[in-house]
Amino acid sequence: MAIRKIRQLGDDILRKKCREVPEMTPKLQELIEDMYDTMYEAEGVGLAASQVGILKRIVVIDVDGTPYTMVNPKILEISDDTETASEGCLSVPGKAGSVTRPAFVRAEAWDENMVHYEVEAEGYLARAICHELDHLEGIVYVDKVEGELYDVQEEDYEE
Ligand code: ZN
Repeated sequence: MAIRKIRQLGDDILRKKCREVPEMTPKLQELIEDMYDTMYEAEGVGLAASQVGILKRIVVIDVDGTPYTMVNPKILEISDDTETASEGCLSVPGKAGSVTRPAFVRAEAWDENMVHYEVEAEGYLARAICHELDHLEGIVYVDKVEGELYDVQEEDYEE
């Protein structure tokens, strides 16, 4: 268990594309544990491996007490319906901005034991999945913000 350093906006690594994970290893399982520790410590609801400097297609998400480890995640289906809501990012501390995302997504991924699963998500979880999967492509939510970023006092919107 360890807290890793979260890379901040402006760090080139956040702009790089992450690589597929061909097989699970003890080292990657340790990375996943560290990602959860780091996310919970920072009071975030999602974290991508690139945010701790590792260019692998791994994200962890926990918006409501149910953790999702997503290795090699892929979006299979998105709704035409969208929702616009406030969003933040642990790599952009103290800021939030309005982003439009699909209201519903269906995604597949592999867990920390490389067991395949699918998840259907709406609302905040759908938003978190889209946000984190963007990180794997080198996209940060500030690229998609409508209007200006604004300062937040609390960490309610941190992802
Ligand atoms: Zn983020």
